[in-house]
Amino acid sequence: MSDKNKQENLEYECDHCGTTSELKPIITYVHQGEEKHCCVHCLPALIHG
Ligand SMILES: [Zn+2]
Repeated sequence: MSDKNKQENLEYECDHCGTTSELKPIITYVHQGEEKHCCVHCLPALIHG
């Protein structure tokens, strides 16, 4: 039923464009007490607001 944990594979998804850490490096950050994920592609947009 649950073959979810074959491997502990760290995979994150960008909150902005939906890409995964398979495809692009994903940065984890905390904003307003919530953990967020952002890929390097969306990071500049995040910085420049
Ligand atoms: Zn992204």
